[in-house]
Amino acid sequence: MGERRYGLYVHIPFCQARCTYCDFNTVTGMSEEDHRRYVGALIQELRQEHPPGAVLTSLYFGGGTPSLIDPRLIATIIEAVRGWAPLVDDAWEVTLEVNPGTATEEALTAWRDAGVNRLSIGAQARQPSHLAALHRVHDVDQIDATFLLARTAGFNNLSLDAIYGLPDQTLAEWQETVNGLIALGPDHLSLYALTVERGTPLQRQLQRGVIKLPHPDLVADMADWAELRLAAEGLLAYEISNYAKPGKESRHNRLYWELEPYLALGAGAHAYVPGRRWWNVRGVRRYVTIVEQGGDPMAGEEILSLSEEMRQFLWLGLRERAGVSRERFRERFGVDVQAAVGEPLADLVARGLVEENPEWVRLTARGRDLANWVGQRLVDAPITVRTSE
Ligand code: SF4
Repeated sequence: MGERRYGLYVHIPFCQARCTYCDFNTVTGMSEEDHRRYVGALIQELRQEHPPGAVLTSLYFGGGTPSLIDPRLIATIIEAVRGWAPLVDDAWEVTLEVNPGTATEEALTAWRDAGVNRLSIGAQARQPSHLAALHRVHDVDQIDATFLLARTAGFNNLSLDAIYGLPDQTLAEWQETVNGLIALGPDHLSLYALTVERGTPLQRQLQRGVIKLPHPDLVADMADWAELRLAAEGLLAYEISNYAKPGKESRHNRLYWELEPYLALGAGAHAYVPGRRWWNVRGVRRYVTIVEQGGDPMAGEEILSLSEEMRQFLWLGLRERAGVSRERFRERFGVDVQAAVGEPLADLVARGLVEENPEWVRLTARGRDLANWVGQRLVDAPITVRTSE
């Protein structure tokens, strides 16, 4: 049985408060005992599942706020994972999402000693008014303090997140946020355009007219300015929302964009292997109860046809700045991109949204601005499934 490489996502759903824009699977107000029971269930779920020949390349603690639970629980999970599947030592990346203000010196040391080697810190903005409006639980000083404490604790792979296109945000405020984050010296930045998710407090505020979003042209200017500014600092765009110093790109997130297999543990977590996706029940208490009773927390699965996999591969791959390698597409599907999705691709090229050469297919700058529209065109495109001779 050959070795099979996977990433592993672990969902920690606990948060101190609910941010106005967030539609992730999170809960507030849970006790330390709830945290312990949940982690017990995660480990039990891990033991229920073991694909033959599994080798892990990355482990990602996302949430929620993984930095909110006792760091010894994170160490327990990592120990269980190490006992479950061998690690690929040269590529092993263990990321923990951290909210400013939740990382003490002791916690940072404990995470580092447990094997965490990358932190993703949710800064989001550097204006007290925006942080308060988003219901973030930290202030600007805590962003800086958390980052500097993490460096002192020895973390040499630190990422910061920020959001642009916030209600009533000006270009000057966005520049202040980006400049403030650059001044900290991050290895990686994730800059997300605000999206208004259904059912969130943000959506209700917009519907009531108490806030308004900046004009889309201003939002595009914010993205363009940030890209140039970051490039001047050696933080290069490698995906629509992600920038890194060379060699500090997120290995785990690349699995998603390159449609490589990943397993997942926890409430609402999604996993993928070629030809199949599946996901767990969302409710945290329900998840714990099912696993504690020896049941399978899987809530659903989707079997992907070859043409669905091709569309996903193409669309996710176009998110990366390097685009989709024609050779990788051929290796995976036995057919050239052109043969699979020729007509819509030619249309996108003619519109100046996609460019191609014999080696790759990728989005143009205008295509990146209209990435969702391009994605929709490709996902809806008829695919010709033909195997090569
Ligand atoms: S801290 Fe993160 S996961 Fe929690 S509510 Fe805010 S945005 Fe959502």
